[in-house]
Amino acid sequence: MSEFDLISRYFSTKFPQRSDVDLSIGDDAAICTVPPNMQLVTAIDTLVADVHFPLTTKPEDIGYKALAVNLSDIAAMGATPVWMTLALTCPEFNEIWLQRFSDGLLELARLNQVSLIGGDTTRGPLTITIQITGLVPLNTALKRNGANPGDSIYVTGTLGDAGLGLQVAKQQVVLSTLAKKYTLSRLNRPTPRLQIGQKLLKIATSAIDISDGLVADLGHILNFSNVGASLQIDNLPLSDELLESVPYETAIELALTAGDDYELCFTTPESEVLFIDSCTYIGKIEPDLGLRCVTKTSDIFIPKANGYQHF
Ligand code: ADP
Ligand code: MG
Repeated sequence: MSEFDLISRYFSTKFPQRSDVDLSIGDDAAICTVPPNMQLVTAIDTLVADVHFPLTTKPEDIGYKALAVNLSDIAAMGATPVWMTLALTCPEFNEIWLQRFSDGLLELARLNQVSLIGGDTTRGPLTITIQITGLVPLNTALKRNGANPGDSIYVTGTLGDAGLGLQVAKQQVVLSTLAKKYTLSRLNRPTPRLQIGQKLLKIATSAIDISDGLVADLGHILNFSNVGASLQIDNLPLSDELLESVPYETAIELALTAGDDYELCFTTPESEVLFIDSCTYIGKIEPDLGLRCVTKTSDIFIPKANGYQHF
């Protein structure tokens, strides 16, 4: 099979077609139409084998996750995803692997009506880069720099599950069958919070997606907004599966510092968030710089690790 056959078989016809794509895969570049009064929101994320996912990860999960992590960035901006490009580097031409990888990618692309409008295919160590483009009404996108003292801090979903899932995938812990299945799916198939992000456009003063751990990512909001915060440790949303699998202190540690959850953390003036499901209040923005973790008994809690850093 030639490179062109490969592209058309796995990455062309099956993907959602959108009327705003004027020229898709096949030419030197793609052409798309941007609606009036909208801004483009662009993000890119790379998954490197053995760095971002264990080598044992199923190809369909790699495809799903490669798009999910990009959609999560779009969600954190409050935008709606529309187009993506895919740079795929793989060590060999393996039809079964390509079929399964593209099936996983396709599943999430279909759910969100994202078109695959181009890419690049090369030989080398397994690496997947997706560039995603979203649309947002002019000057409404959520950013990291708008948090104000007095704002409440919220997170979506539950935290720490993917961190435990990574330990499961690396065979560092043994869990019940149900907890294993749940935490692995949280690691391999994170849910980008797109609908919530879009609802936050009129409500949130800042937002970020949690890819490197709550402490690290909330830290970015605090730095960009030039504020501090106190976090109510007892309020952190923890899943039953996490709580049944590890001691409470370990669950808290994972929730604060493990990456890969891809939940949203956002700030908003008090009480406006009642309209939004599956969000938990976790603390307050304060004028004093720095992050203070406090428990019900007001003990100061200091997490052992910070977020994941490549360098
Ligand atoms: P060029 O040599 O002009 O850069 P290529 O031969 O790399 O073009 O690719 C031919 C066409 O196939 C282009 O439209 C490109 O966007 C698309 N393409 C290549 N690889 C992929 C991929 N993995 N996924 C989606 N589209 C791809
Ligand atoms: Mg060209």
